[in-house]
Amino acid sequence: MRLENRVALITGASRGIGRAIAREMAMEGASVAVNYFDDSQGVNRSDADRVVGELEKIGPGAIKVGADVSDFGMAAGMVEEVLSRFGRIDILVNNAGINRDATLKNLDRQAWDDVLAVNLTGVFNCTKAVIGFMSEARRGRIINTSSVMGQAGGFGISNYAASKAGIIGFTKSVAREVASKGITVNAIAPGFIETGMLSSIPEKVRESLLKQIPAGRWGRAEEIGRLAVFLASEDAAYITGQVVGINGGYYM
Ligand code: NAP
Repeated sequence: MRLENRVALITGASRGIGRAIAREMAMEGASVAVNYFDDSQGVNRSDADRVVGELEKIGPGAIKVGADVSDFGMAAGMVEEVLSRFGRIDILVNNAGINRDATLKNLDRQAWDDVLAVNLTGVFNCTKAVIGFMSEARRGRIINTSSVMGQAGGFGISNYAASKAGIIGFTKSVAREVASKGITVNAIAPGFIETGMLSSIPEKVRESLLKQIPAGRWGRAEEIGRLAVFLASEDAAYITGQVVGINGGYYM
C-alpha cells in the first residue's frame, strides 16, 4: 500500500482519467476527495456519487466535493471542506479539464476563455488553495494533468494546447518554489486516452491519429492512474518539476 494514511484531492474525478486516478489511489490506501462540477440537472453529482460508492469498496474512505475549479472562491472552499473532513491533504491532482476545439479562424473568444479558465486558471486556483497547508505540513505531492498537445501542439486546438503548455511552465516554476518544503510538483502529459474527451474527436481524425501512435493503441485511463500513484508515492520523492509523457510513443 504505497499511499496508506494519505489524503488525495482529485479534481474532475467524476469520470474519465480522474476517476481512474481516484481508483488507483484508493487501491493503494489513500482516502480520496472526488471533485466534480455539477450541472443544473445534477447529472454530474450522480456520476460523483457512483465514484464515491466504488471508492468506498476499495479504499479507506471517500467524499465528493462539488466545485467549479475555474472559480477562485469555490476552489478555496473545496480545499477547506476536504481539510475539515479529512484533516489534511497530502496529494492534489489537478486533473479537471475541458476542450472546445476549433481552428484559430473559427475559435471564438468564449471558447478561448472557457478552456484557459478551467484548464490553466483552475490549476492555479487549486494549487494556491492547498499550498499553505502543504508548506506547513512540510510534505505534499502536486500532480498536474498537462497533455501531449501542450508539448507538440495540434491542429484546431490552439486554446487547449496553450492551456496545457501553460501548465508545464506553472509546474516547473512552483516546483522550484516549494522543493525545500518537501513538496514535489510534476506534470503528466498523456497522449490519447480512451475517455469521453477522446470520443469527442471526429472518427476520421481518430483513425489518422491512431496510425501515428507507435504502440498501435489508445492509452487506458488506469495507466495514467498508476503513473499518478507512483508520482504521489515516496518512491518519487526526488522527482520534481518534471513532465512525464505517457503516450505510446506518439511524442518523444
Ligand atoms: P473527461 O472524461 O471529459 O472528464 C473531465 C473531468 O473534468 C470530469 O470529471 C469533469 O467533471 C471535470 N470538469 C470539467 N470542468 C470542470 C470544472 N470547471 N470544475 C471541476 N471539474 C470539471 O476528460 P478526461 O479525458 O478524463 O481528461 C482528464 C484530464 O486529462 C483533462 O485535463 C484532459 O485535458 C487531460 N487529458 C486527456 C487526454 C485524453 O486523451 N483523454 C489526453 C491528454 C490530457 P463533471 O463531469 O462534473 O463536469
